[in-house]
Amino acid sequence: MLNEQQQETTKSETPGEAPRTGEDARCSPVPIVPLDDATEPPVAAGEGAWYAEGLSFGCTQCGNCCTGQPGYVWVGQDEIQQIAEYLDRSVGEIRLLHTRLARGRTSLTEFANGDCTFFDPRTRRCRVYPARPRQCQTWPFWRSNLVSPQSWKETQDACPGATCGDFVPVEEIERRAAQSPV
Ligand code: SF4
Repeated sequence: MLNEQQQETTKSETPGEAPRTGEDARCSPVPIVPLDDATEPPVAAGEGAWYAEGLSFGCTQCGNCCTGQPGYVWVGQDEIQQIAEYLDRSVGEIRLLHTRLARGRTSLTEFANGDCTFFDPRTRRCRVYPARPRQCQTWPFWRSNLVSPQSWKETQDACPGATCGDFVPVEEIERRAAQSPV
């Protein structure tokens, strides 16, 4: 799962060990879909940024961002509620089985191997993908990953989808970064 260093410094979910690259990982046709949230993108924030001409991203569905070293996926009450509704479970059950308190916030839990407890190792897919938290929706366009070309390079090392795929304009990058909790 996105690790602490990536989340708190450069970004998200890569660890001390080499991230799984997924031997069959290829730039997939999984399209970039603008987030539903009506938050207006702070476009001006992207002007003059090193990524002002846009970046490429196409999720290969390798599962790297849901597995690996321990990390945090911060969630709010609304996101827990969304997951509960999607799974037809109670909020209390989701909180009890899938969240933990850390640093005064609430994070999704993970197994001892670092895999998110919503990650299905058989299919290597997220079990709550349509209801996944904002932190997952906005990956890899987290502020911490966009700090510099170097931080983006580190992101690419962890996420093969960030090395290719669809062109993502700065407006969409900024929209996602503005919605991410990291
Ligand atoms: S976002 Fe990146 S790391 Fe996560 S599954 Fe897609 S390609 Fe893999």
